[in-house]
Amino acid sequence: MMIKFLDLHAQYMSIKSDVDAAIADVIANSAFIRGPHVARFEQAFADWIGVAHCVGVANGTDALEIAIEALDLPPGSEIIVPGNSFIASSEAVSRSGHAVVFADADAGSYTLDPESVRAKITPRTRALMAVHLYGHPCDMKSLMAIAREHDLRVIEDCAQAHGAKFNGQNVGTCGDLATWSFYPGKNLGAFGDAGALTTQDAGLARRAQMIANHGRVGKYDHEFEGRNSRLDGLQAAILSAKLPHLEGWIDKRIALADSYLVGLADIAEVTLPVRRNWARQVYHLFVIRTGRRLELAEYLKARGIETGVHYPTALPRLKAYRNHPQHGEALNVCAMDSQLLSLPIGEHMSLSDVTAVSEAVRDFFTA
Ligand SMILES: *Cc1c(COP(=O)(O)O)cnc(C)c1O
Repeated sequence: MMIKFLDLHAQYMSIKSDVDAAIADVIANSAFIRGPHVARFEQAFADWIGVAHCVGVANGTDALEIAIEALDLPPGSEIIVPGNSFIASSEAVSRSGHAVVFADADAGSYTLDPESVRAKITPRTRALMAVHLYGHPCDMKSLMAIAREHDLRVIEDCAQAHGAKFNGQNVGTCGDLATWSFYPGKNLGAFGDAGALTTQDAGLARRAQMIANHGRVGKYDHEFEGRNSRLDGLQAAILSAKLPHLEGWIDKRIALADSYLVGLADIAEVTLPVRRNWARQVYHLFVIRTGRRLELAEYLKARGIETGVHYPTALPRLKAYRNHPQHGEALNVCAMDSQLLSLPIGEHMSLSDVTAVSEAVRDFFTA
């Protein structure tokens, strides 16, 4: 038996003719940079999310940097970021000339704890970044209320949350700007790096689009210095071919997660992820916690079951933040990072795979 953590080849084989035709069309038209395939994907993705504007960019990290730049905050502004995320979330803040302030996450959904956000606000705080981690939406009602009260801008990092909903509302439609990654392993993945920003605000969309394309208003006519972060035609065409399948893939992930939640219930040593009653959690990752993480991972590996860890070191504890004032701060997220284990989940799996993984986990703890 072999249960892979991720199987991109199996996904490709299931939609091969659509993807191959999309690629051939880009090549036949030499539409490599921007062009009609990018415009079509931007429109399709905006429609799918239910927002007015989508700007394709080179990757999800650039999307965050461009989002922050588009907000035009005073230099040195403090931006609140959860202490548990991929480093791109905080990196984008520092690289944009602002100060990262880490807030804590709740120990069930692993998303920003609004009370912790409130406690981190200072007179220099200008924005907060709501990372919908693992595919679980943040508590956007509480976060937007805090943002209104303190006049903060809100960026949603939706890299792991395509299709997630807060109270029935799509993530990426709640804040000022949302950023997306189409890294191959994300729930909607390209065949290379790709990303996007979405927003309801025409002015922010225009500014983001210009930043991503050298501040250009016309050929060799540049209103300001931007950068080169464009979505390419091949990636856009592949993403357009995949988008119609995404709802089905999400439903599959939710069914698999529900099966895990039943199969792993009542194992005292395992803490299961909590899905808040207002959440459509799209399970980019299915993360459990156990004090015996390493041993369990080895045990599963010996049985042909791949696992991952997201993330083994909470952001404030990384070497990159050894000089950050919060390095060493006693946050929940820092206490939990040694216990996290991501079990395999994805449309390549069957319900009987989940049963096999659940039984292996149970065997480990009862052996
Ligand atoms: C993947 C990811 C990013 C970065 O996206 P890239 O496309 O890899 O640059 C940002 N934030 C989070 C939470 C991610 O998971």
